[in-house]
Amino acid sequence: MKRLNVARTEDIRRFLCNTCGRSYKNKRSLSSHKKIECGKPPRYYCNLCPRGFFYKSKLMLHTVQHYPV
Ligand SMILES: [Zn+2]
Ligand SMILES: [Zn+2]
Repeated sequence: MKRLNVARTEDIRRFLCNTCGRSYKNKRSLSSHKKIECGKPPRYYCNLCPRGFFYKSKLMLHTVQHYPV
């Protein structure tokens, strides 16, 4: 029986963006990166500092850090 040479832990991040060099562990993450992030300005900006984010959820996570618990 033939065995496929499956990817091991060391080459998980083998989906490289040829534009910016970021690596992803699967094809879907890479293609969504290319579609949403790569070479584009962030869509969501923090009201309290100059940081920008590509996803609203990331912005929300960031925003709470401005408020001490
Ligand atoms: Zn990229
Ligand atoms: Zn901020």
